[in-house]
Amino acid sequence: MSFQFDDELYRDIILDHYRNPRNKGDLDPADVTVSANNPLCGDEVTITARLSEDGETVKELHFSGRGCSISQASASMMAEEVEGKPMPEALKLINRFKEMMLAEGAADGLGDLEALQGVKKYPVRIKCAVLPWNSLLQGLTERAGEATGPQAPEIGLDIVNLGLIYNVDVHENNIKVEMTLTGPGCPVGPMLQSQVYGVCAGWPGARNVQVDLVWSPPWDPRTMASEEAKDVLGIW
Ligand code: ZN
Repeated sequence: MSFQFDDELYRDIILDHYRNPRNKGDLDPADVTVSANNPLCGDEVTITARLSEDGETVKELHFSGRGCSISQASASMMAEEVEGKPMPEALKLINRFKEMMLAEGAADGLGDLEALQGVKKYPVRIKCAVLPWNSLLQGLTERAGEATGPQAPEIGLDIVNLGLIYNVDVHENNIKVEMTLTGPGCPVGPMLQSQVYGVCAGWPGARNVQVDLVWSPPWDPRTMASEEAKDVLGIW
């Protein structure tokens, strides 16, 4: 992988989206409507989406709002990139984008979205870039209506019993969850992560929710799963 920050190219991409926003203007009616703001910077975004009849595809994705070039360009890029994607791919992209913005190191394979990682040099602006993505994640998750709580679909056990939740840290209105998956290639990983996010975001008073995937220590059902889960998994 060859990668270098190309500030000028990045700036051009961001300014192009800021000046010529894609998919701007609220969809009405919409299946998903979420508004959020970033008080640090004064950014406001509203995300509206229309889903396919079976709810499996993000057919149309629009945004409206105002604020700094980072927040508005990020929303414009997101609308363009996520529109038309099947739900699992949409969630995966949200996840990858957030990872790019919140983790160390450089990402690749994200096309124009990579322009926004130049912002990582200015930590206070990371919130601007992530704002539309968190809103969309919240909207899609709420829409999915996870009334029963997150389940690991292929096993049918809940993720707490499986021992996949490593840590939950609640500090005032901030919730930080560290969770793992049964393996790095877990196909439902982004979905589980977004469901956990959705559940946390639904807690009264929750303002900042962060759900991090961690791989250390590696998940080991023999020591981490509950007795009930071990029974189901056939581990004694
Ligand atoms: Zn901003």
